[in-house]
Amino acid sequence: MADTAIPAQNAPETLDESLKASLIKPSRGPMKILICSSELEPFAKTGGLADVTAALCKRLARAGHEVKLFLPKFKSVYQTGVRGKMSSDSLEIAFNGSSLPLRWEIYRDKANGFEVVFVVNDDLFHRESMYQDPQTGLDYQDNDTRFFFFCRAALEIAKSLDWRPDIIHANDWQSALVVSLHKTCYADDPFFQNTRSLLTIHNAAYQGVFDKTSLAKLGDWAANQETARAMTHRGKMNFLKSAIHYADIVNTVSERYAVEIQSSPEYGFGLEGALRQRNADLFGALNGVDYEIWDPAVDTLIPYQYSVNDISGKSKNKLSLQRELKLTEDTRPPMIGMISRLTEQKGIDLFLEIAEDILSLDVQMVALGEGGREYVASLRELEKQFPNNFRALIGFDNRMAHTIEAASDMYLMPSRYEPCGLNQLYSLRYGTAPIVRETGGLADTISEYDPATGEGIGFVFKNYSSDELLEAMCRG
Ligand code: ADP
Repeated sequence: MADTAIPAQNAPETLDESLKASLIKPSRGPMKILICSSELEPFAKTGGLADVTAALCKRLARAGHEVKLFLPKFKSVYQTGVRGKMSSDSLEIAFNGSSLPLRWEIYRDKANGFEVVFVVNDDLFHRESMYQDPQTGLDYQDNDTRFFFFCRAALEIAKSLDWRPDIIHANDWQSALVVSLHKTCYADDPFFQNTRSLLTIHNAAYQGVFDKTSLAKLGDWAANQETARAMTHRGKMNFLKSAIHYADIVNTVSERYAVEIQSSPEYGFGLEGALRQRNADLFGALNGVDYEIWDPAVDTLIPYQYSVNDISGKSKNKLSLQRELKLTEDTRPPMIGMISRLTEQKGIDLFLEIAEDILSLDVQMVALGEGGREYVASLRELEKQFPNNFRALIGFDNRMAHTIEAASDMYLMPSRYEPCGLNQLYSLRYGTAPIVRETGGLADTISEYDPATGEGIGFVFKNYSSDELLEAMCRG
C-alpha cells in the first residue's frame, strides 16, 4: 500500500445546489417550507438523514425561505437539551377512534434561521431509542401509530399556527404519510389548497411496512377502495409506497440511485414498479455537506485542526488516535477508517471476508459502528486476532466519527448499495482517500485515482466481490 497523496482540495465545494435549484424557482420568491423528518443533527440521529436535514434547513433558510422542521421529541432531544427559549402549545386531535393530546414546542435556531417544531407525546416518542427496542433489536410494534401521529400532528400544528406551507417535504417512511394525508384526508381543506409536496427517499429499503389492519387505524378517510389501494403494497400497509403514489414530486439522494431504485428489486426492494410509474416526476439530487461542521479547519471535535489545503496536520490526529486506542504510535503505516451502521447494506460481510488479508499487512484500521449482532461479534473477534493494528469501536460516538475522519489516510465504504453516502464526501474534505464500491452516490461522487495524470479522488471497485475490494484496497 502506497502512502496516498490524493489532493484534498479535489473535494467538491457544495453538493446541494441541484436540490436547491429544484426547490427554489427564483421567480417565486421566498416560500414557506414545512419539512418533516425523524432525524435532525444534533437532536436525533442514527445516520446521514440527521446531517442532511440540518444542512438543508440551514441552506434553505439562508436562501431566504421560511422553514419549519418538524421532529418527534424523542428521548435524545431531552438528553441533548435545547439552548434558549421555546414556545409551546397544545390541542386535542381525533386519532385512532379517540382523541389524543398533541403538544408541541417551537425552538428558533437563531444562528441558522429556521424553526424546529418538536412534536411532543412521551408515550409514543420518549423511549430508549428512536425506532427499535434495544433489548430485542426489533422495531417497536406500534411504529405505525407513532409515525402516523407525527405526520398528522405536523399538518394540524401548521393549521393551528395559521402557517400555510407552500411546500411539504417528507423524508423517508417515517414522515411519508404527511404527503399522503395532504392528498387524501386534507384534500378538500382550503388551508392546504396551494400546497405542493415532495417526497425524498433517502433509503428505499426502509419502507414502513405493517399489517393491513394498520390501515383501519388511519381513520375513515382511508377506508375507500382507491385510497386503500394506494396505501398498500403486496397485501401490506406500506408508508413509503403511499407517498410515492401521492407526492407531487419524488426525489432521491443521487442520480445513480434514482435510476437504480427503478431498475431491480436489489435496489428498489419491491417498490421498483411503483417508482417506475412516477418516472416522469422522479429525479436524483446529491446530498449536501455542511462544511461549517465537517471541515478539519473548523472541526472542534478533533484534537488538531488542519486545513484541507495542507493535510500535514493529519499526522498529529493519527498519533493522538493511536494513543487513545492503544495502537502502535507510528505515522508510517496507513490507517484505514470505517464508520458505519453495521448492516448488510454497508458491505461489512465483504470486508470481513478479506479482513485477515488486509490486517496481515502493515496497516492499522479503526471501525466504528453499531447494529447487527453477528457483525459486532465478528469485529470483536477480529480485534482479538489483531490487537496491535485493529480496533472495533461498538456504539454511536459522534466525536469519534470526526476523529477517525481526521486521523485516517483511507476510508472504507464497500456498500452493497448506497443512496448517497456522506462519509466518502467528508473524507474528501479531511484528505482521507475513499475506497468505495461503484454504486449509487458513491459512483456519482468518487472517481478512480490515476497516478499518471493525478486525476481522480479515490479507489473504486465495481462488482460486489471481495477480490475486487482487496484489489482496490491494495491500490490505495
Ligand atoms: P447512512 O445514513 O446510510 O447510515 P451516510 O453515509 O449517509 O449513511 O451517513 C452516515 C452518518 O452517520 C455520518 O454522519 C456518520 O459519521 C454517522 N455515523 C454512522 N455510524 C456512526 C456511529 N457508530 N457513530 C457516530 N456516527 C456514526
